[in-house]
Amino acid sequence: MDLDRLVEILGCPTCRVRVEPIRDALFCPECGHRYRVEDGVPWMIVQGTPPAAKGEDLAVEKPYVRIPRDLPEEFRDGIVLDYGAGNQKQKYPHVVQFDTVRFPTTDVLGTPDALPFQDSTFDAIYSSSAIEYLPDPFLATAEIHRVTKPGGVILLRVAFMQPFRSVREHYFNMTVEGLRRLTRDFHPLQVSWDPTAPHLFRWVLAILLQGMDPPARKEALGMTFGELVARMEKNDYGPFEKISDDARKALSPCVFFCGYK
Ligand SMILES: [Zn+2]
Repeated sequence: MDLDRLVEILGCPTCRVRVEPIRDALFCPECGHRYRVEDGVPWMIVQGTPPAAKGEDLAVEKPYVRIPRDLPEEFRDGIVLDYGAGNQKQKYPHVVQFDTVRFPTTDVLGTPDALPFQDSTFDAIYSSSAIEYLPDPFLATAEIHRVTKPGGVILLRVAFMQPFRSVREHYFNMTVEGLRRLTRDFHPLQVSWDPTAPHLFRWVLAILLQGMDPPARKEALGMTFGELVARMEKNDYGPFEKISDDARKALSPCVFFCGYK
């Protein structure tokens, strides 16, 4: 979405009122804060500099065509928020690409705890692989609820059984029940799970193999799948016992905390 259209819907993250353009900034008439506009991208944050995307973030390009396909048809042409848009291939005039990190196609930068939009702005909000990276998903979802129009639709895709990823701060994977709880202020149309389990299997295998030293990897790749299963049934994990700590962390079955008051 271009800046002229974006300004119509932006709101001060503190006061939620419309902001006014003044030279290279946006001005909040309520609190007087000036938000920078850099290369046409408003930085709707009260303090600090939003980090630029790099490395693995830029290597993953989200297939943007999924947004119109996944949203219910009657919402596809309305004002759409791509929440945690990440690295997109192209822009669309009716879609706002929002993120906390600067990507080449980001339209507006802000924080999930205080979205930089006026109340009841969006016909549809789409988020894929973003909510699990937020430290307070309940606060973030309350903000998503605030900026959704009455009768508007949201579509959230959240990690469930996915390895830990260190590229960003990775907080909360969710079950279907967890996601239902998180979105309890919305009327559910469909709450479901993703059928791409074989993809997860490939992902886990890739992490295991990357986490092995060359001899262990050679031993693992020399085994048939049947041999592997037979050995594991006897609790003999062979080369898979020799994976790195990074791989163990990525695939850890559970985490723990011990502390005191
Ligand atoms: Zn303000």
